[in-house]
Amino acid sequence: MLGNLPHDNKSVRKIRKLHRRWREARMFANAMASASHPILAQIVPMRRCNLSCTYCNEFDKTSDPVPLPLMLRRIDRLAELGTSIITFSGGEPTLHPDLDALIQRVRSHGSICTLITNGYLLTPDRIRALNRAGLDYLQISIDNVQPDAVSKKSLKVLDRKLEWLAEHAEFDVTINSVLGSDIRRPEDAFEITTRARGLGFTSTVGVLHDGAGQLQPLNSEQRGVYDRIFALGGGLFTFAHLDAFQRNLIQGLQNDWHCSAGGRFLYICEDGLVHYCSQQRGRPGIPLDNYTREDIIRESAAPKSCAPFCTISCVHQTAMLDSFRQRPRETLAGIIERRKERDPSWQPPASVRMLDWMFLQDSKRRDRLGAIVLRLLR
Ligand code: SF4
Ligand code: SF4
Repeated sequence: MLGNLPHDNKSVRKIRKLHRRWREARMFANAMASASHPILAQIVPMRRCNLSCTYCNEFDKTSDPVPLPLMLRRIDRLAELGTSIITFSGGEPTLHPDLDALIQRVRSHGSICTLITNGYLLTPDRIRALNRAGLDYLQISIDNVQPDAVSKKSLKVLDRKLEWLAEHAEFDVTINSVLGSDIRRPEDAFEITTRARGLGFTSTVGVLHDGAGQLQPLNSEQRGVYDRIFALGGGLFTFAHLDAFQRNLIQGLQNDWHCSAGGRFLYICEDGLVHYCSQQRGRPGIPLDNYTREDIIRESAAPKSCAPFCTISCVHQTAMLDSFRQRPRETLAGIIERRKERDPSWQPPASVRMLDWMFLQDSKRRDRLGAIVLRLLR
């Protein structure tokens, strides 16, 4: 992807990427240091959406943008609570007239800023404005190759936007394809993934959930497409995440995990209330202005009966960080083992070899070094 860029653009991208990795490392250290702050908060600046995907329960057609001063106050409050990553979602957040100012505010607090969009309003100028505002990550979910009655988030409609992103974006881009009963042609997910990777983007594949965030089991054709996408490979931690949660869900099996939504993950609706996630709104339903560390600790620990068949992948990811915090050796060993099971010839990258050496090899000296690093991280 970098091959066609003017030299200056390439350098800017590399510098911004390095800076982002450094801030991610700090976020990771922060997540290790304490369990009493949110790792990730999703916040809705705009419930209205310019599309109407038939499976979606997260949009309306009438609401106004949340006024700028209110949004800024909510971002400041999330920063006071120590939130590491703030994600704008919707509805369609790019409809908000002050989105760039909101991104700048997130960055002014040192948090990582991400945006989930349907991509329809992206133009080269809009992408450059997002660069200037300091966006770190952008995610587009693409449901099919050709638009149909269910969804118009389609590769054919969005492909030009993807090319603009490849050309102009200084932030990281992830393309999410989807499998589920509402998606007519499961094969489309494979085509979307290969196109995304061809443009140099990260790709993920999600499983559609019902109106409570719960799994809708996949049929054999959908599972076959998932296996083909999985076989394309990807980053170690992407694999770990997919292995740990999605492989079970794909087979219709439940996961044994603790959901710490309401604590490590927060969902802030347009009315400024804290909810567990987009699919479990109303719990705890406390205004963000009044949300305290005690609320975070209590809700984080609260059992959630919807956890076994939950498909909300960003909450799975926060759980993976917590699992690393609590049991670093076992978590890392499990990740590496599952990756090697899939691909026996796989060689870990240098960073993983270093973690492996510190945490997993059998030596007293290394044990001591691992303990020191853990203490520093914590
Ligand atoms: S684009 Fe996103 S928010 Fe809008 S209707 Fe579709 S899934 Fe819902
Ligand atoms: S398990 Fe957690 S993230 Fe999943 S649906 Fe329930 S509350 Fe939401």
